[in-house]
Amino acid sequence: MSHAEAPCRRPVGASGGVRVAVFDSGAVTLRDLDLPDRSPGELDVDITAAAICGSDLHTVLGHRPAPPATALGHEGVGRIRSADPGATDLRGEPLRPGDRVVLSMIRSCGACDRCRSGLTMKCRNLFKYGHASVTEPPLATGTLATLVRLSPRVPLLRIPDQVDDSIMVPAGCATATAAAVVAAAAPAGDESVLIFGAGAVGFYCAAMFAGLGCAVQVRDPSAARLGLLAGTGAQPDDGRQRPYPIVVEASGSPAAFADALAAADVGGLVVGAGSVSVAAGTITVDPALLVTRRLRFSGVHNYTPAEFATAVDWLTAHGRRLGLERLLSPPVPLARIDEAFTLMRAGTYARVLVRP
Ligand SMILES: [Zn+2]
Ligand SMILES: [Zn+2]
Repeated sequence: MSHAEAPCRRPVGASGGVRVAVFDSGAVTLRDLDLPDRSPGELDVDITAAAICGSDLHTVLGHRPAPPATALGHEGVGRIRSADPGATDLRGEPLRPGDRVVLSMIRSCGACDRCRSGLTMKCRNLFKYGHASVTEPPLATGTLATLVRLSPRVPLLRIPDQVDDSIMVPAGCATATAAAVVAAAAPAGDESVLIFGAGAVGFYCAAMFAGLGCAVQVRDPSAARLGLLAGTGAQPDDGRQRPYPIVVEASGSPAAFADALAAADVGGLVVGAGSVSVAAGTITVDPALLVTRRLRFSGVHNYTPAEFATAVDWLTAHGRRLGLERLLSPPVPLARIDEAFTLMRAGTYARVLVRP
C-alpha cells in the first residue's frame, strides 16, 4: 500500500478541502476533495476519531467488491460542522455546529416493504458508509477522513464529552451489532450463554449478556482475545458441557457455527452474527438434530436505529468502568493511513484508532 500526500487545499465553500482515505487500484491513498456546498438535509461532520475494523480490511484485501475510489471507514465520532436549522439527532435532540456526535454506518429509506415491516437493516435501498465511491455524490462518505457528509436519514446521536472517542467509535458497527444480538436473544437474565468468538462483536455480546446477569462462557482460540474479557463478568469457556439455552456464533467460522448448533440445549436459541462472508465455506448439518431438539435460529446482520441507540447508551454507561478503550490500538494519524492498515493486518487489535 502507498499513500500520496498532496498539500491541503484552501477551504472552498462551507466545508472546503476534505482529505479522505481512498481504496483504488489495490492501494490505500489519501485524496483531497473540494466539496460543493452541502444540499439541504445533509450534515457535515468533522471527524475527531475513526476506526479501521475487519470489514475495511476485507475491502482492501479484495475479499469483497468495492467501487473504484472507495471512501474508506464507517465508524466515526466527530463534531457537527454544518447542519440545517432545526436538524435533530435520532432522539430528536437539536444538532448545532460544534455538537459532538457518533455515527451509524447505515441509512435506510423508511419507505420500502422491508423498512415498513421493521427490517430497516435489510432496506431495499440501503446505503452503507465506507463502501461508496468518492466520485459520486455526496463524495465524502467514509469516516477515515477529515470530514464526512451525511445524507438525510443517517442515524446519529449526540454524545456527552466525558466519554472518550476511543470508547465510542465502534458504536455504529460492532457494539450496535451486539445490541442486536442481545435483542434477538431477549434473555431473562439468568441463562447460561455460550459465545463463539472473542473479536469485537463477541466481546461486546459477552459483556452485555454478563451485565444482564447471564452466566457467559466464551470460546476463542486466542488467549490474548480471551484475556480482554477480564472484568466484564464473562469467562473463557472451561470446556464443561452445560445446557445452553442461548448460543451466539460471532466468529464467522463455519466450523464454529456447527459447534454452536451442537451446543444449544433442547428448545434453545442460536444467534448467528459472525458469518457475513459468503466465501468463508459451508458446513454439513443433520436436520434431525435441529428439528428433534426444537432449536430456533436467528440471523443478525446490521441493526435497527433503536439498537444503535442502545449501543450508544451502553457504551456511555459502562465504557469507562470496563476500560473499553483497550479494544482499540493507540491512535495513528490519518496522514499515516498505510501504517494504520499495516497495524490492522497484524491482528494485534480488533480496531485501529485513526485520528485526522
Ligand atoms: Zn466496522
Ligand atoms: Zn427501505
